[in-house]
Amino acid sequence: MNEINFIDTTDIEIDLKKIWEEAKHLLEPLVSSVTYDVWIATLDPVDLKGNTLVLSTPSFSSQNVLNQKYKNYITDSVNKIHSAITEVEFIIASGEDEEQQALKQSAPVIESPKKKPVSSCFNPKFTFDNFVVGSSNQFVAAAAKAVAERPGTNCNPLFIWGGVGLGKTHLLHAIGNEILEKKKDLNVVYVTTEKFTNDLISSIQNSKKGANSDFREKYRTCDVLIVDDIQFIINKNSVQEEFFHTFNELVMNGKQIVISSDKMPKDINPLEERLKSRFESGLIADVGVPDIETRIAIINKKAQLERYNISREAVEYIAEISKTNIREMEGRLSRAVFYSGLLGESITSLETTREALKDMVTEDNSEIDANKVLECVCKFYNIKKEELLARKRTKEIAMARQVAMYLISDLIAMPLASIGNIFGKDHATVIYAKNKITDDMATNKKLAIEINDMKQMIKGK
Ligand code: ADP
Ligand code: MG
Repeated sequence: MNEINFIDTTDIEIDLKKIWEEAKHLLEPLVSSVTYDVWIATLDPVDLKGNTLVLSTPSFSSQNVLNQKYKNYITDSVNKIHSAITEVEFIIASGEDEEQQALKQSAPVIESPKKKPVSSCFNPKFTFDNFVVGSSNQFVAAAAKAVAERPGTNCNPLFIWGGVGLGKTHLLHAIGNEILEKKKDLNVVYVTTEKFTNDLISSIQNSKKGANSDFREKYRTCDVLIVDDIQFIINKNSVQEEFFHTFNELVMNGKQIVISSDKMPKDINPLEERLKSRFESGLIADVGVPDIETRIAIINKKAQLERYNISREAVEYIAEISKTNIREMEGRLSRAVFYSGLLGESITSLETTREALKDMVTEDNSEIDANKVLECVCKFYNIKKEELLARKRTKEIAMARQVAMYLISDLIAMPLASIGNIFGKDHATVIYAKNKITDDMATNKKLAIEINDMKQMIKGK
């Protein structure tokens, strides 16, 4: 699940070639064609050791260059294709000549800088720096940061909850990464509920061999215990019981606990009341569903981190069609960039993005077009379409226009800039309209009902 998965090498042989072929496609646009032909195209995937992809290179000098200059690019690209691969290693293909052998022994090997100490179980990409903060998640991000800065002192436990793919695991890792960076001697344990359960089961099975005390040693003596996806604890009474005691012991000793869940404690059922009340005794924070600006910022951040070159319209399009799951949004981004790389585009365009994602966007509103929305809004407010689209700005027409922008963006997967175009406005005006109508609906019930009625009319229900 959220742990670093080791790959079973027995059934991977055929796939290694495929993974490497796909990774090469990602690499090609990132480096010059000479670099690509000389250093990258000559590599061969030969093995997978744990999470390390072993690539063979023809000579010692190319091994050196690869380690010094291209290792990070190659690691990132392979990791993008197969997230469980987090390292690459270059070995020299057998059949190397003696001169190369001699060189190998005499030349100093310059190690490429390691990204993270090997001992860390935290994903080095899941940091606070890489976590984009917007109105939906500023509270949870601040709470996580406070815990990372002063574990065990406040917000204990910190209970982070929210929907799938919205950054819970990212924040848990960010806490772990930050604590380990600032206080190396602290014993930080990250575990998924599934792993906690499996550890407990095997400790019970092997209790005669002292495994039980190993289990307790591991979980009850750490300084920070981070437990991901606690919702999976339901229906497992022995696990709940053990976790309850672990929890008490740690909190009593001033140790920090951080928990994530897809639901609030009160909604995790069936769960022992005493655990619910423990979970509720600290700080509960929701990751929330990010708004369109935050989603755009997340894509831009990701694009910057991954050195993607993607047009603003394409970014907006992906953000627009990915309303509730950031993981899915990131998948769409990678797919679009990968696809445009195959086409040799230097910058991922809107057109290519649409093409790349056409099978993934299953909008059930595909039969609705913007025109239908405009007609419905006009009918509802009793105004003419020309008035809605003209520059005229009476209060009523301005309102109807905002409602139309809101409805188009809500019902149709259309880039904000294109929505703006319909009205002769830019994408910022559309964002403003969307936010304004969303806010207004929260306080104005009548408007919320009207908008819902319009939606039903548009959908022909
Ligand atoms: P969850 O655990 O809630 O299911 P994850 O933490 O695994 O979700 O997040 C899914 C993906 O979305 C990760 O790659 C994560 O980095 C990214 N992500 C989610 N929220 C943000 C954010 N606010 N800023 C940057 N990346 C985010
Ligand atoms: Mg998660």
